[in-house]
Amino acid sequence: MPTPDPQVSKLLRAELQRQRDGLTLIASENIVSPAVLSAVGSVLTNKYSEGYPGRRYYGGNQVIDDVERLAIARAKKLFGAEHANVQPHAGAIANIAVFFTFLKPGDKILSMDLRAGGHLTHGLRINISGKYFSIIPYGVDANGYIDYREVARLAKQHRPKMIISGASAYPREIDFAQFGRIAQSVGAIHLADIAHIAGLVITGLHPSPIPHADVVTTTTHKTMRGPRGAIILCKKIHAAAIDRAVMPGIQGGPLDHVIAGKAQAFAEALKPEFRRYQKQVIKNAAVMAEVLQAHGLMLSTGGTDNHLMLADVRPLGLTGALAEKLLEDVGIYVNKNLIPNDPRPPLDPSGIRLGTPAVTSRGLKEKDIAVLSHAMVQHLTRPKNLSVKKQAAKTVAILTKKFPLYPTLK
Ligand SMILES: *Cc1c(COP(=O)(O)O)cnc(C)c1O
Repeated sequence: MPTPDPQVSKLLRAELQRQRDGLTLIASENIVSPAVLSAVGSVLTNKYSEGYPGRRYYGGNQVIDDVERLAIARAKKLFGAEHANVQPHAGAIANIAVFFTFLKPGDKILSMDLRAGGHLTHGLRINISGKYFSIIPYGVDANGYIDYREVARLAKQHRPKMIISGASAYPREIDFAQFGRIAQSVGAIHLADIAHIAGLVITGLHPSPIPHADVVTTTTHKTMRGPRGAIILCKKIHAAAIDRAVMPGIQGGPLDHVIAGKAQAFAEALKPEFRRYQKQVIKNAAVMAEVLQAHGLMLSTGGTDNHLMLADVRPLGLTGALAEKLLEDVGIYVNKNLIPNDPRPPLDPSGIRLGTPAVTSRGLKEKDIAVLSHAMVQHLTRPKNLSVKKQAAKTVAILTKKFPLYPTLK
């Protein structure tokens, strides 16, 4: 058997070190348990299992069938869904599978404008969703909130085949019941994409779209805290069509090692600790929002109900890209992001997006978040002051030492 390549090993160690020494406030990232890591790094990566449990195109799938059945049963239980497909390799793929199930090229989709917080698979012009379908975007009002009357008006005017609810950068609760009613009133399929908020949904901290949507997609690696991947949940009547769309429609063999990681993450999510974790995520975000706003950053909608916030950094004389770089310099990771009605271009926007799922997994509580947030605003307010910068870096060093990451991993 070949031995580990020194260059790859070095890079893996370097990334572990970067994660240990830094604090991640990227809203879409999280930190999985060692058990999820080991499932994803397991021998299941050696298996081919095109098909579904009990009907595979390959032999030797007795164990794989049990793994996938376990993941399916747990996903259904977590979401209270009639059917779950746990094979999609990513959130983007799950959405394409749903489009492939219900739409023909040229059909109309009513979805959230990317500039307002939507996802690229909801109709970016250069994404397959924007190329193959006719996109009608809805935005947010002057305060940053979804305007449901506007969504209803656009639905009536354009009569789309599909309406997508869900976002990548929306700090408030989404009214899935309203979306469901609007979709029903025009005979549209309602797809709820809860990639970001799934962890809050399954713990009852955000209303569930399951009763109000024909189909629900979510990633498993954001607030769900599982391996990179996605699942599709739907009503029984759509089950066969969704399964066919995933395989053989757009995917070949499933990633069985990742499905084992999903089953492990779902087991973790079914425990009471997981609800306590999600509650802490929300509390931490609220504390961060308060400190940032007290120091001049302007948050879209004036705050947050969930795990993330969108901060306009122009009041500090910065751009999103500059703020991202300044924070990276002291080991704090965020991403530059458009803010609603942003006058600046997507690659050089006015804001940053911040989220608390990863730092909460690490163990930070309100007090630690307040300390971290203060260090951030001090550094962002006086970017040229070296002693302030040093102080911010020191705060990160103290916090990362207080909350060590994967202490037994080499
Ligand atoms: C992250 C995200 C996705 C895509 O997930 P990938 O796994 O990166 O493909 C889809 N929809 C929304 C709303 C997201 O935020």
